[in-house]
Amino acid sequence: MTEIADNLSALQTRIQKAAFAAGRDLESIQLLAVSKTFGVEKILACQAAGQLAFGENYVQEALLKIQTLQDPRLQWHFLGPIQSNKTRLIAEHFDWVHSLEREKIAQRLNEARSPNASPLNICIEVNMSGEASKSGVKPQDAFALADYISRLPRLLLRGLMCIPEPTQDTALRAQRFSELRQLQQALIARGHPLDTLSMGMSDDLEEAITEGSTLVRIGRALFGARPTHPNQ
Ligand SMILES: *Cc1c(COP(=O)(O)O)cnc(C)c1O
Repeated sequence: MTEIADNLSALQTRIQKAAFAAGRDLESIQLLAVSKTFGVEKILACQAAGQLAFGENYVQEALLKIQTLQDPRLQWHFLGPIQSNKTRLIAEHFDWVHSLEREKIAQRLNEARSPNASPLNICIEVNMSGEASKSGVKPQDAFALADYISRLPRLLLRGLMCIPEPTQDTALRAQRFSELRQLQQALIARGHPLDTLSMGMSDDLEEAITEGSTLVRIGRALFGARPTHPNQ
C-alpha cells in the first residue's frame, strides 16, 4: 500500500508542475481520488497519505464504503449517472454531486437534503463533444439548468464538470476544456458565482490545469488499473 502513497506524491508533483507552468496558484487546484471499484483498504491507504476527498460512481458500492469507514473527515463526491430512486441516498450521504443534468433530479436532491446538513454542492455535467451517447447537458442548456438549481435552497451550484470524448488528440481535449471554462465565464456573467471547474483525469490532468481546472478527478494514476466492474 506504500504504492498508493508514492502514486499520490507523484500526482501532487504533476499537479504542481502543471500549475507552475500555467502560472496558477497551487491552492486553487484540488485532487479528488476516484475510488470506484476499489476497496476500503485502498481508501484507507490513500487517507493515511493525507487524501480526504473521494469520488464514487455507483450508489450501493459507495454506501458500503461510507458506512464501513464512518469517518466525518472524509468528503464524498458522486460522479455517476443518477437514477430518480437513488436521489435520497445521494442527498443523505454525499457532500458533492458532479453529474447533475436534469431539473427533476435537482428537485429530488433538494427535497431529500436535510435542513440540518450544509447544502449539497453541485456541478452541472456538460457534454462538450455533442456525442449522443454521452451524458451531460448541451452547453446551451446549462443556462436554464443553472437558473433552476440556483432557486433550490438545499443545493449550492458550484460549477461545471465534463469528460471529453476519448481521443489521442491533445489539442481537441484542450479545446473541450477551454470551452467548458468559457461556459463557466458566461454563467458567471449571468450572475452565477461558480468557483469550480471539475475537469481532468489520469491521462489529461496537465491540459485541464492549463485550461483552468480547479478539481482533477484521478482514479487509475492513484489506485492502479480498475478491476472490471459488475453492473449495478
Ligand atoms: C472513473 C472516473 C474518473 C477517473 O478516471 P481515471 O481515468 O481512472 O483517472 C474521473 N471522472 C469520472 C466521472 C469517472 O467516472
